[in-house]
Amino acid sequence: MAAINSNSEPLFNTARVIEELPSDDGDDDYEDIDVQAEEKLPLWLRTEIVDLLNDELETATSEAQEEVYDMCRPLLLCTDTQKLSSNQSSLPTLSRDRHTEFLHAALKPLPSGYVAMDASRPWLFYWAICGLTTLGQDVTQYRERLQETLRPLQNPSGGFGGGHGQYSHCAGNYAAVLALAATGGLDMVNREAMWHFLGSMKQADGGFRVAQGAEEDIRGAYCAMTAITLLNLPLTLPPSAPARQAGLESFLDRLGEWIGRCQTYEGGIAAAPGSEAHGAYAFCALACLSIMDAPHISVPQCLDVRALLAWLAGIQTRTEGGFAGRANKLVDACYGHWVGSCWALLEAALAPASASASASASARPPPNLWDRGALIRYLLCCCQQPGRRGGMRDKPSAHPDAYHTCYSLAGLSAAQHHYSYDADAAVHDTVSGRLTAAFNWTARRATPAERAVWCCDEMDDVAFVHPVFVIPMAAVARVVQQFPHSIL
Ligand SMILES: [Zn+2]
Repeated sequence: MAAINSNSEPLFNTARVIEELPSDDGDDDYEDIDVQAEEKLPLWLRTEIVDLLNDELETATSEAQEEVYDMCRPLLLCTDTQKLSSNQSSLPTLSRDRHTEFLHAALKPLPSGYVAMDASRPWLFYWAICGLTTLGQDVTQYRERLQETLRPLQNPSGGFGGGHGQYSHCAGNYAAVLALAATGGLDMVNREAMWHFLGSMKQADGGFRVAQGAEEDIRGAYCAMTAITLLNLPLTLPPSAPARQAGLESFLDRLGEWIGRCQTYEGGIAAAPGSEAHGAYAFCALACLSIMDAPHISVPQCLDVRALLAWLAGIQTRTEGGFAGRANKLVDACYGHWVGSCWALLEAALAPASASASASASARPPPNLWDRGALIRYLLCCCQQPGRRGGMRDKPSAHPDAYHTCYSLAGLSAAQHHYSYDADAAVHDTVSGRLTAAFNWTARRATPAERAVWCCDEMDDVAFVHPVFVIPMAAVARVVQQFPHSIL
């Protein structure tokens, strides 16, 4: 069940709930509750509500959940501030300087333990660079170094491998392209070879493999369509693409249908048809569909939007406020992005299609599909590394790393800002043939009243992260200008 939104407060008569609790239940903790302090808390954090939601069934899962809750509760209530400085609402402020230092350090020579990450080198660059830009840092200083490091990873047959001498891989390729886009270094990409590489990943059923001989999954589809769109590669499959033998001519052929088959009985999205629903794959599916066409067209065409919405709302953890990656799993900061960033895409998918309807809809506030304040509280209170080291972490028992720092900050961006899709803008460029739906987004900051509800200060605001490509909005705008022409 989702964390209960503070805006739904009038639906609950909390005074009545308190009265109905037995006064002689032997619960000493209840006697100690500071009623006034409790009343200042968002509804979902109040003891009487938390108690109402607990069931009696004890399992290994419920014990693990209880452990996480016990760890998080003093941090969420700010009774333990972990020596982080506080904002006006007593929440920890975003330790901007320390996280910046942490991410810069992630781009320096790394300890020997990182040898295990050798096949994920572009990801290490992307997480640090994307995180820095979300903190408002200029990353162009890394352009040449990044290009030099990535040069040997770019294969003559197209695309980037995860490390030296490795096959090109759609995921590592995505990270390399985005890191280069953020630093302004995309000119080093061999676009024609990239087109051939991605063409060889397209499958007869419409999906994409992630690498030669590797698995076909939703990451492959999203990562491939990201590179195709940002680099303005032709949508037509290269002549050598094996999928042509099955009658396919375009990267888009059968793709929407294949993505639809990834939706599970739960309503969420799996890596591939028949697998388990997972928050990160929901983002990949929604973002991929938002590249292919306007979200209000492509998403309802391919997915059961209501079922997906219910599933996503169900993995916002009711006691910590962040998101879990799957049903009945523990909260984890990175899903602040993977699930938190789904909401802007879903809001656009649910928006009215016609210009006049969208004009009248824009006069209304966007629907409250999720609890932004709860995610912000979880990320600021529980996921910032205390002390001087900086960096953000999955949960308080975990160590910080660049991955969780990057996606915690992207999650903050999703929660703090409003992203709107222009339903009247063109969805493809008639001259180059490029898909342009993903370029029709704008962002605006929250109002002071919204920030007050979320207990978040303006000084904690991060930059606008593009809702589809997960790099700064400004970097996407630059890339659009950089490749106005197709390679054909
Ligand atoms: Zn995680």
